[in-house]
Amino acid sequence: LRMGTETETVGLAEEEFNEELLFGDIDIATTADVEVPPGLIDQVIGQEHAVEVIRKAAIQRRHVMMIGTPGTGKSMLAKAMTELLPKEEMQDILVYPNSDDNNNPLVRTVPAGRGKEIVAAHKMESRKRAQMRNMLMLMLVFGIIGYALISGMLLMGIIAVAFIFLAFRTMMPRDDVMVPKLLVSTSPDSKAPFIDGTGSHAGALLGDVRHDPFQSGGLETPSHDRVEAGAIHRSHKGVLFIDEINTLTPHSQQNLLTALQEGEFPITGQSERSSGAMVRTEPVPCRFVMIAAGNLDAMQGMHPALRSRIRGYGYEVFMQDTIDDSPANREKFIRFIAQEVKNDGKIPPFDRSAITEVIREARRRSNRKGHLTLKLRDLGGLVRVAGDIARGEGSEVTSLPHVLAAKETARSVEDQISDEYIRRSRDYDLTIISGTAVGKVNGLAVMGSDSGSVLPIVAEVTPAQGASGTVIATGLLKEIAQESIKNVSAILKKFTGKDIRNIDIHVQFIGTYQGVEGDSASVSVATAVISAIEGIPVRQDVAMTGSLSVRGDVLPVGGVTYKIEAAAKAGIKKVFIPRSNAGDVLVEDRYREMIEIIPVSHIEEILEQALVPANRAGFLAKLKKLAEHAMIPPNQPI
Ligand code: ADP
Repeated sequence: LRMGTETETVGLAEEEFNEELLFGDIDIATTADVEVPPGLIDQVIGQEHAVEVIRKAAIQRRHVMMIGTPGTGKSMLAKAMTELLPKEEMQDILVYPNSDDNNNPLVRTVPAGRGKEIVAAHKMESRKRAQMRNMLMLMLVFGIIGYALISGMLLMGIIAVAFIFLAFRTMMPRDDVMVPKLLVSTSPDSKAPFIDGTGSHAGALLGDVRHDPFQSGGLETPSHDRVEAGAIHRSHKGVLFIDEINTLTPHSQQNLLTALQEGEFPITGQSERSSGAMVRTEPVPCRFVMIAAGNLDAMQGMHPALRSRIRGYGYEVFMQDTIDDSPANREKFIRFIAQEVKNDGKIPPFDRSAITEVIREARRRSNRKGHLTLKLRDLGGLVRVAGDIARGEGSEVTSLPHVLAAKETARSVEDQISDEYIRRSRDYDLTIISGTAVGKVNGLAVMGSDSGSVLPIVAEVTPAQGASGTVIATGLLKEIAQESIKNVSAILKKFTGKDIRNIDIHVQFIGTYQGVEGDSASVSVATAVISAIEGIPVRQDVAMTGSLSVRGDVLPVGGVTYKIEAAAKAGIKKVFIPRSNAGDVLVEDRYREMIEIIPVSHIEEILEQALVPANRAGFLAKLKKLAEHAMIPPNQPI
């Protein structure tokens, strides 16, 4: 048992991080001095494994499945792959009318660039023919009218002209009918196409035949002219990227699999009741390399045959969320900012102070000791907002104040909601931040991925209703949270020494409309329950987070930085966090003064400081005695 640990405050990890440390002997004034590599693949930061896989897969033209958090570079890598594919002759794809079967247009491929010429030649030809015909008709009309005038049979003449006109109209083929349609057009020097098929409905993905409202009577559009290429055809010989692959309908996934296997796929109308559904072209080539992406649940929603096809003929990679905060990697982040500035094209370069602040933010957002976040889309967003602010002010460079202002503006929706929630719960006294209360503890939670909130937890003890006591938890607890409540009961037995068989313990999570996930509230639950059982009040100006082992060790949790900031915002003075999370704390300057951060490794350290002194002495003494007789020696695995 670890009694009497003296209080210490966290040595904040960011104190060591400053401009000198970041730049060392890197001699640049702004990002304008940083060289940005021309190849997209060389611009990818981190993700070494994925980069290697993409390089290999490109040479072999293999499919790749990329799993990972949004904004970590999946589509960027897919795009980069097109630059790496072995050089191939591109092809144009044309559809021709089929005089034998109007509903089965013919498909032909020709070398890149030829398609346009062929269509132009056909158009020219048909225009010439139309001109000839019109001339012929004019001559006939004048001839007849002239003859009629001379011979005095004008009425007969007009009737004859009308008759000839109608005959022409119905018997001669229409000019546009014979012109082929260019389905997929490439130019001779073009590199492999990159097509993003994310979120496509079946028609956009697999091709479609438009509906014809007229369908007959000489006004109809010929069927080959209504054929539209799908993403699979437009990516012929290139890369087809599909993010959130699991959101495609099973029907589309099945067809995608067929297209992958056959390398060609006929186009047919995708909506059943359209006249397009009767039309089906000859197979249209679609030899694309597929890059399927998604987050972890994409695996579940994916058609098993499609996944096994990709795995069998390609690679699967997992994208990293963070990289080590090493000098080499920080240098890459400087280059990242330069890239984003360059790609945007409009924002002023970042000076050293601005670069330092962005990289400090990358450390903070990694939520992990000694790491930098790789959720670079969001970080790129921060760069752009800061740049826009600088540009709005007419500044030549983007510097620290712009980045700080951007951090205020570019907050996630969750963060803004959480602020609003804190404000409201203060209005309604849901979160109490002063005085003491029995059985009530301020826990901490994270909403979304980057926004903390104070989560009050209340415990109440009643005589058991059933044969044995139970722990009843309310407040939309999800699975892991439920589990953690069970663990807490084991600790209670040990710490209160009370037989909890004849009491029911009610634990309520207050104001959790979104449900509670994870076990990071275990220490708060345990503290609330112990307070309720023993009748010892808890200080309300403290908050806590931490998971618990059945022996009472405080285990690490996620999102400590955001939780601490939320506590500070709510006006709490002291926060307990797991000692092993101490290095993850990267609290922003403005919160640092507001709150004391105390790392702990055992729940007793919390009890000692959070329970009100006057009442806790007896309890702590009892604890000590209990510990001496504890059946489980400390530090021994159970
Ligand atoms: P995903 O497809 O994983 O959602 P994207 O590839 O669309 O993410 O990333 C969006 C943008 O964020 C990119 O265009 C790039 O500017 C930036 N970005 C994301 N990941 C990286 C990375 N690993 N290296 C460099 N830039 C990145």
